[in-house]
Amino acid sequence: MHAPDDYCDGAPPGVGRRSLLRGAVLLGVGAAAGATALTTAAPALAQVSAPTIHNRAAWNARPPSSAVTIRNHRPNKIVIHHTATANQADTSLARAFSLSRGIQNHHMDTNGWIDAGQQFTISRGGHIMEARHQSLPTLQGGTSFPHGAHAGVQNSESIGIENEGTYTSVAPPAALYDALVHFCAYTCQQYQIPPSQIFGHRDFSATACPGNVFYGMLSQLRNDVADAIDGGGNGGGGDFEAIVDSTSGNFTASGNWGTSSWSSQAYATPYHFAEPVLSSDAAWFRANIPSAGTYQVDAWWPADPGYNNNTPFVVAASGGSETVHVNQRTNGGRWVSLGSFSLSAGTYNVVGVSRWTTGSGYVLADAVRIRN
Ligand SMILES: [Zn+2]
Repeated sequence: MHAPDDYCDGAPPGVGRRSLLRGAVLLGVGAAAGATALTTAAPALAQVSAPTIHNRAAWNARPPSSAVTIRNHRPNKIVIHHTATANQADTSLARAFSLSRGIQNHHMDTNGWIDAGQQFTISRGGHIMEARHQSLPTLQGGTSFPHGAHAGVQNSESIGIENEGTYTSVAPPAALYDALVHFCAYTCQQYQIPPSQIFGHRDFSATACPGNVFYGMLSQLRNDVADAIDGGGNGGGGDFEAIVDSTSGNFTASGNWGTSSWSSQAYATPYHFAEPVLSSDAAWFRANIPSAGTYQVDAWWPADPGYNNNTPFVVAASGGSETVHVNQRTNGGRWVSLGSFSLSAGTYNVVGVSRWTTGSGYVLADAVRIRN
């Protein structure tokens, strides 16, 4: 169910735009002599409720013509498609099920594939359906997924979502978009995929999919998914939670800090990096702390062997600054606890990343989370 210029399977990969900064960021790998890093807590992911997902039995799917391949690892990205079908007004569940059968028939009978190519389908009414065999139970399990047929070389690494309609000149309806945000947030949670790793089909294949207008909305989608994951969490047991990333107006850094979009583990792109030096020159995350009290502070960074093994995070605690060192070569792409701190009320620079370390490699400033 793609436009004629679409090449859903076996197409050459797109230009690797994310590789442009790779050389710069990988500089700085050096000896780690004697540096010690704080042992950090296990990742604490927010809990996003599962949306209603109609399984294959619900829409009377045909069995696959041969066994689907199960990849026994987590996918690392989500690929957004449009079906390139008419933008019809029927938002019923019956229409959504009919759409699912139509896509499966097309992929099996016309394309000759073993099953529907994508893992999931969302209708214009916002109904979410399992598509390829085993997609729903593996999503619920969070450790594996069926190899798809929707995005060329990304089929072994990604979850594909077919969104009903054609979005070259109009935006998807709110019901579809809202369901997509919820579904992506849940999928990012289940597979530990950073919200920054949501792409359009055209990022990887020579295709107009998912249409110019929808493609232009993907930055907003990434932000909305990040907010949904944020809002779904209550892991601290309190009612306050703030996430500040380095693309925010609440982030400040000197001109000595560079930006990069290279790593696929970033919370938001571009993130900031700097050479270690024996002066602070900290990059700061500002937040509005509602009342004096104890808060849990977490940090998120993309990990890489070239990043710093002893990065100082400075927390502006009410009793004076406290510094926690972390190893940014590991634990990338997840929230890592820096600890609990007493914070004063008010809007101020709460968490900083200092450049003052004897560790080697770039220090990274990506995102912090503060909650009570
Ligand atoms: Zn597509």
